[in-house]
Parts: sequence; structure tokens; C-alpha cells
Amino acid sequence: MQHDAPIEVIFRLTEGQKRALHKLGIQTVEDLWYHFPSRYGDTAEVRQVGNLQKGEAATVFGRIEKLAMRKAFRTQTPMATAVLSDDTGKIKLVWFNQPYIAKMIPDGALVRVEGRVSARRSTQPPPDDAPARTTGDSVQSGGRSARHATRSLYFSNPKIEKVSAIPAGSEESLFGADPHPHALHPVYPESRGVSSNWLFHAVQKLLKTDMPAAFTDAIPDGILKRYHLPSLKTALVWIHAPKNQSHALAARKRFAFEEVFFIQLQKQRERRNWQREQSFPIAHAEEHTQRFLERFPFVPTNAQCRAIDAILADFKKGNPMARLLEGDVGSGKTAVAAGTAYAVVTSRPQGQSYGTLQVAYMAPTEILARQQFENLISFFSHLPISIGLITSSGCQKFPSKINPHGSTDISRAQLLKWVGNGEIPILVGTHSLIQKSVKFKHLAYAIIDEQHRFGVNQRKALVRKEKIVPHLLSMTATPIPRTLALTMYGDLDLTVLDELPPGRKPIVTEIVAPSDRNATYEKIRKELQADRQCYIITPRIDEPDPDKESAMQARSAKAEAKRLKEKVFPEYEIGVMHSKLKDAEKERVMGEFRDGKIHILVSTSVVEVGVNVPNATVIIIEGAERFGLAQLHQLRGRVLRSSRQAYCYIFTERAGAKTIERLKALKTAKNGFELAEYDLKFRGAGELSGSPQWGVSDIAMEALQNLKMVEAARAEAARLLDEDDTLSNYPLLSEHLKTRAQQEKQIHFE
Ligand code: ADP
Ligand code: MG
Repeated sequence: MQHDAPIEVIFRLTEGQKRALHKLGIQTVEDLWYHFPSRYGDTAEVRQVGNLQKGEAATVFGRIEKLAMRKAFRTQTPMATAVLSDDTGKIKLVWFNQPYIAKMIPDGALVRVEGRVSARRSTQPPPDDAPARTTGDSVQSGGRSARHATRSLYFSNPKIEKVSAIPAGSEESLFGADPHPHALHPVYPESRGVSSNWLFHAVQKLLKTDMPAAFTDAIPDGILKRYHLPSLKTALVWIHAPKNQSHALAARKRFAFEEVFFIQLQKQRERRNWQREQSFPIAHAEEHTQRFLERFPFVPTNAQCRAIDAILADFKKGNPMARLLEGDVGSGKTAVAAGTAYAVVTSRPQGQSYGTLQVAYMAPTEILARQQFENLISFFSHLPISIGLITSSGCQKFPSKINPHGSTDISRAQLLKWVGNGEIPILVGTHSLIQKSVKFKHLAYAIIDEQHRFGVNQRKALVRKEKIVPHLLSMTATPIPRTLALTMYGDLDLTVLDELPPGRKPIVTEIVAPSDRNATYEKIRKELQADRQCYIITPRIDEPDPDKESAMQARSAKAEAKRLKEKVFPEYEIGVMHSKLKDAEKERVMGEFRDGKIHILVSTSVVEVGVNVPNATVIIIEGAERFGLAQLHQLRGRVLRSSRQAYCYIFTERAGAKTIERLKALKTAKNGFELAEYDLKFRGAGELSGSPQWGVSDIAMEALQNLKMVEAARAEAARLLDEDDTLSNYPLLSEHLKTRAQQEKQIHFE
């Protein structure tokens, strides 16, 4: 059977199941093989009723009968009882204080039961509330077999789950002919319509085919041996049907390594290809740039200087730069972009004594594009350098003929003409920049702001516009751990702005007890009275159903805004922002907030990264336990925009001691990177804000907690490419990378 055969080929599926599988990312047989258990059912072994021993934790499958609700004889405790049977015997099930169980499961249903096996001494009269009390009806009526079945054993308060089928023959056929199976029961990520149990049986069915043998391992043998990793075949069996914990672990380790290794190979290959391209060399830039920087209204930080030096050094080479500039919100990335853009637009195309090289500056939203257009104007206004702006709602040019200090609307055709003949050296824009109709004369430098908001293809489209490839500077404020950066950005050189401009007062961050809510509102009222503005962030509710999720999001932000308007801040203008608003509406709300017409902006976490409203000095974050620390840090960054004292008040909905402990890191950590590491370490990679955007699996995220593994994968990928950079000796790897690239194309960001 083909691995890429659609899943329907093997399984007969209802529409609901198809949808659920789709949601889980399972479309082909191979996807199902790669749908790994998220954990293994406790320590409980799957057993047969006839073999159960007193005191053991066990899982059994069987049919449930004689469900009854009653009260315990003396204590009157409500209880539910039932009998479970399989081919080998029967056992009694008892739930104290959970009489509703009897209503949840229909009599005669097939179930999976997991719990600890208890026993009473058979000679002793049953204790008042012990199950045998009820033998009179439910068990003894079963006759001989029933009496045999109880053997004084019973499950007390077991977990119970309805299943669609009993795994054939239970222990033997489940896990091979091992007479002493110590199998772990895999638990799969499920979706409504497809339960873990369904997936379990589906995978078991695959395991019985000859498919595992047909899997060929793309990872070279030498690498597997060096790191003691199981082969693909073995790992697939071990991950879905492990006989013990160490098999499961070894399999997970292999798949984690595999994924990181593939990503490394892909990124490093892209990097090598990129470095073979030709770019415009930009020489002798330092002195000019120095003079340009001296005109800034501030002294660049050391980190900014280091970043500029690194970029100018790259510019001198004949091949294109590919660099990621990572810096906390407010670390001054725009100034780095402007300083280096200056070096480019004051350089002539090679062998030409006229004209200049050009810069493209792409931002993810119209608001940000406009904001950066204005920023660049302020940096360049003393120079005879034109700057253009292109967005879907129109085009602008600086300077305007009438007003040498301002910009003016121009037609798209006119703008494109001037960009095409090189008269406009700097073009700022949104995605509109990557349209085919936008043609530069000598594009030498492409800057992407908030790069995580763009898809790979959008980034590629911007830099692949010409035969001579522009230098690329990607900028982001997303703090990510080193292992993740080494992996996902393996194709880029990394520069970190690890220093904020001087004079920034750290944001006063307080974790507020519910009883202090009103006092906090009064503090905010004082800020508002001093003409400051405020953000209120409401949590993103993590519903598994994405449609529902946005509905809840919208409601909570709206409801909170309404409540505040009615009960707390009737005298202020309150705006609402969430992902369900149309783009134009978002722009309008952000615009009004920026202009001070809206005093309080209630928003979900969609509130634009990078939006600069210096007058906003307070932020409240509701339900903070729902966010990762790095994400909270980014949200808090909304108010780190001026030298005024800013405040962040953190509220939680349910706050255990652990949550508070974790949130306290916001007060102690030096920067976002520290918090990102903290997230990765203590709560897992899922905590990293928007981790789905990395497009890697949970298992790879686990690997990213392990610097050694990431470095090993990185080194092996480099070694392989050094030896065979086209991978011509590794057709499987080469094929695999092609598929990955194909899939990447299909991932849509935002
Ligand atoms: P980000 O890195 O978040 O994009 P910006 O480039 O928007 O940050 O800069 C944030 C603010 O800090 C801007 O108002 C900018 O003028 C100012 N700024 C940048 N660098 C410095 C510096 N070295 N000293 C003082 N202020 C600076
Ligand atoms: Mg910025």
C-alpha cells in the first residue's frame, strides 16, 4: 500500500470522522503513522479480567452490564455498580458518590475501564459500603460464572470510557505473543468524532499490515548509530505499541531528532543556495552612515551599533546577506533599518556614476507601514531622497512638490513608474510590495518588519524579485529560545538587540489580587485623568473548535468593554478590538486610539505588535494564566514606548500558587528571551506564543528543550551537506526535503 494513499482507502469513514481526521492533520495513511500518542495510559496495563490480581493498576476492555444506582446500606452513600465481562471472566465495578455514572453509559455498551483492582476477603461479611453488599441481585444472579467472576475482586471508582470495539483478544493480539506483556496503552490526541480509542485501533490495524517493513529510513545509518537511535521501522512500532517506557522514549527521541534534522538540512541548504547568489556590494559605507547616525535625535545603543556594523560588513560581500534582527519591543530596530538603508541609497549601482540602489521595506499591516513610512521620513527629511508608500488603499510619496516637509497622495501608476526607473530609492509597503507589477530598478536591500507575520513565500517573493538578489534583513520582536532560533532560522545569521535605549523605566508590573480590582481601576482613572491611555487585554479562550474560539474571543472583549463603560469608566471612550473585525474596522479603531479619540482599548491579544501609541501608559491583562510568559511580555511591551513610567496590572481567573509563581517571573526576568526560555522549560513549547506558526510538531518542540540534540542535528546536517551538497547520494533525504518544501508552501500564516 502506498504511504501517501488517502486514509479512506483503508478505513470506511463517516463524514464526521473525515472532518475530525482532517482537523487532526490526518489525510493520508502516512499521516496516521505519524499521529503519535501524546502519552501512554498511566501505568495501567491492558489486561484480561480473568488474570487480574488484587492491588494492581489495570486497564480492561469489555461489555458492561447490570448498571444500577443505589445507596450504600448503612451510610446511605449514593453509589453506582455494574459488572464488566470479557472472554475470560467478570468483575464488579463500583463508584461511590458518582451515581450519575450509571446514566452516562448504556447497559450492554463496550467500555474501557482503568483503575486499581481491590479485593475483600471472601470469608468476611462484606463491609457496609463494599460492593459485595449488593451481590444479592446484580452478581449472584449471574450464577456460577458470576460468583467465579467476582472472586472478591472489584474496581473501585475506575475511569470508564465507552469504546466502539474491543481490541481483539486483548493482551495477546494487541501486543504480540509476549506471554508477559507490559504494554502501555497509547493515548492519542483526539478530535470530536475521532476518539483516542478509534485512533488506537486504526493504528493497530496498520501495525498488522506489512507496511512497517516497507518504510525506508531517510536518516543515514551512520547517524542513527552515532546517537543510538532506533530505525524508522522499529521506532514506528515502539511509538505506537511500546512494550515498556524506554522503547516509547527511544522512539520519541528518534522522531524528534528526525524532524529537527530535516529542518536543519532544509534551512542550511537554503542558506548555501542563497550564498551562491549575487548581490550588489555596498562598499565604503561606514563613514557616511556615521554622519547620518549623528543626526539622530538620540545616541544609538551599543547593541544598535553592533547590529549596524554587522550589516554593513555583510553588505561588502558580493553575495547577499540573510540576517535576522531580534530585539525586544522598543529596542530600536527601526533605527538600525534606517541607518543601514541610508548606506544603500547613497551607493551607486556597480559601474555606474548616477542613480542609487534601492530599498524595500515591508510591514505586515497598513498601520505599521504608514507608521514606518513616517518614521523614515523623519530620519531622511534633510536629504534629497524620495520615499514611497504602497498599500492596497493607496500610494504616497515624500516629499510632496507643494510641501517639501510632507508627503502627498500619488497614483499607483506614477509611483510604480518612479520605483521602476529608480527615482524613488526607498519604498515602504504592505504585502502590496510583492505584487508582480512592483518592479525596482536596482533593488539592493529588502527589510521585513515583524517578519513572523509573513509566510515563507511572502518573504521569498520580496527578495526574489530581481536577478541580482537583495540583501535581506528580517526583524522581529518575538523572543524565542536559542534552540528554536537555531532550528527555525537556521538559514539566517542572527543579531540580537539585547539592550533597551537608556532612560526607559522598567514597566511597573503588579499581579493583582481580585480584591484589589477596584483600587486598580482607580489608579487607572488617575492616568486617564492625566490624559494617558490604557489597553485592556482579554484572554484568548482556547477552545478546540477554531470557529467557537473566535466567537468566544469576540464576546469576551465586547462584554468587558460594555461592562467597563457601564460600571467603571462611563466618562471615557472605550474601543474594542478583536480578530473578527474586518481589516478596515481594525484600522479605524487603531487610528482612533492613536489619535486619542479612544481612551481605553479593550482587545484580545491581536492588538498589533509594533503599534506605537506612546501616550498609552497602562495595560491590564485579564486571565493572564492563559498566556505564555513571552506573550505576556510582548503584550506588556505595548506600553513601553516612552520615557514615562508605564504600568502593567495582571489579573488571573484561577490562580494557584504555581501560576502566581510563574507570573512572578515577569517581574524578575531581564528580557523576553529569558521569559521564552522559561516558558519552554517549565510549561513546554506550547506556551511559546503562537507556536503553531513554527509549523513543527509537538515532538519536535520537545526536542527544542534539548540544546544538545539540536546542536547534534545541526552538526550532522552541516556535515552531510559539506560532503554532498546536492544530496545526490541521499535520494530519500532529497525527496523528503522536496515534500517538506511543498507542504511549507501550503501553510498559510496569519
Ligand atoms: P522596535 O524595536 O520595537 O521596532 P522602535 O524602532 O519602534 O522599536 O523604537 C522605539 C522607540 O525608541 C522609538 O520612538 C525610537 O525613536 C526610540 N529609540 C530608538 N533607538 C533609541 C536610542 N538609542 N535612544 C533613545 N531612543 C531610541
Ligand atoms: Mg518595530
